[in-house]
Amino acid sequence: MIYQRSSALFAAAEKVIPGGVNSPVRAFKGVGGTPIFVKSAKGAYLYDEDGHRLIDFINSWGPMILGHAYEPVITAIKERAEKGTSFGMPTELETQIASLAIAMVPNIDKIRFVNSGTEACMSAIRLARGFTKRDKIIKFAGCYHGHSDSFLIQAGSGASTFGSPNSPGVTQGTAKDTLLAPYNNLAAVADLFAANPQQIAAIIVEPVAGNMGCVPPLPGFLEGLRELCSQQGALLIFDEVMTGFRLAAGGVQERLSIAADIVCFGKVIGGGLPVGAFAAREEIMNYLAPVGPVYQAGTLSGNPLAMAAGLAMLTALHEDSDVFNRIDQKTAYLHEGMATVLQKTGLPHTINRLGSMISVHFDETPVIDFETAKKGDNERFKAFFHGMLQEGIYIAPSAYETWFITDALTYEDLDKTVEAVAKVTKVLK
Ligand SMILES: *Cc1c(COP(=O)(O)O)cnc(C)c1O
Repeated sequence: MIYQRSSALFAAAEKVIPGGVNSPVRAFKGVGGTPIFVKSAKGAYLYDEDGHRLIDFINSWGPMILGHAYEPVITAIKERAEKGTSFGMPTELETQIASLAIAMVPNIDKIRFVNSGTEACMSAIRLARGFTKRDKIIKFAGCYHGHSDSFLIQAGSGASTFGSPNSPGVTQGTAKDTLLAPYNNLAAVADLFAANPQQIAAIIVEPVAGNMGCVPPLPGFLEGLRELCSQQGALLIFDEVMTGFRLAAGGVQERLSIAADIVCFGKVIGGGLPVGAFAAREEIMNYLAPVGPVYQAGTLSGNPLAMAAGLAMLTALHEDSDVFNRIDQKTAYLHEGMATVLQKTGLPHTINRLGSMISVHFDETPVIDFETAKKGDNERFKAFFHGMLQEGIYIAPSAYETWFITDALTYEDLDKTVEAVAKVTKVLK
């Protein structure tokens, strides 16, 4: 495949945008080469600027769960746009989407809409701190909760209790309030509570991790977090920005029957427009301004176009609840196909999957946390990525990403994908 026009567009973009992209994950830093520029997309396919059709396994990093340019969403946006695109005043639409989200998701009474997953997580943490009157939070290495200061902390030296900033610009003052534990390690969390009595406001966790590849929670992990939080007077925050309205209508809370105190949303909830949200029981949500003391605001929050897109998306998922089953089955089919092929080639690998989240690590060590995720052979992944691209299949340009399956994918698309995996991995060996 030739990427002449994409290369030229990228060169032009680099002159006026840092790295040529408005979000680093779009750059091909992890795999080499230059990003592909999209012209349009429909259903399961991307059409790039050089005229190729690609089967898309990113789907805007999750939102397009029913495929690109999904008709009801597009119609809702068009109809709404005619009526004005922003007022800075309340609209009925906001109550409609709020009511629907609350009907679909367990354990929430009220929800507030923001503009991104980052904003949702950042606001949820402030709310948890205000509500508990405590400062510290626990996060897990390898979990991503957006790019706000408190979350850009990684386990530098795994042994250290205090986080160290992994992005310049995050102050030590902020970093010291973020405590780190390895994912799936309940004992480490219990130790943090013991070492910081009455100081921990909340645990924030991706209840099925998707930002170090897909890493499902081990049996008992989420249950244990729930118990520790309840015992210690801390809040359990589920960051369901990726898993919400994907693993079930009610997200992981429904799928694995575990109640969180605050839930964060993004991605699917906006139907492809910039939307995030956070939700909790009334007692917690009423801590927010204007009823409560915790301030949080947004000029474009609850924007009518975004709410119309989100409402159309949630309505589609609500009315056709079998959709979650269908995408799970499609993902299971892809899983089996790839597992068979990879076993035949004898390449060391681990495939992790829960529902419609799946990822391939090129290492045979079970991937249960960030340390084991890092063992994956990145050189193999790079070759795999570019090989798949040559076959017309677009997966995330990083070994640390989940594949996002959409209902628009046909079994024929999946067969083609498995054939491509067979062809590409044969050479990889
Ligand atoms: C994508 C993501 C975010 C950040 O959402 P943005 O809309 O990119 O700000 C937060 N948490 C998780 C789990 C995510 O996958």
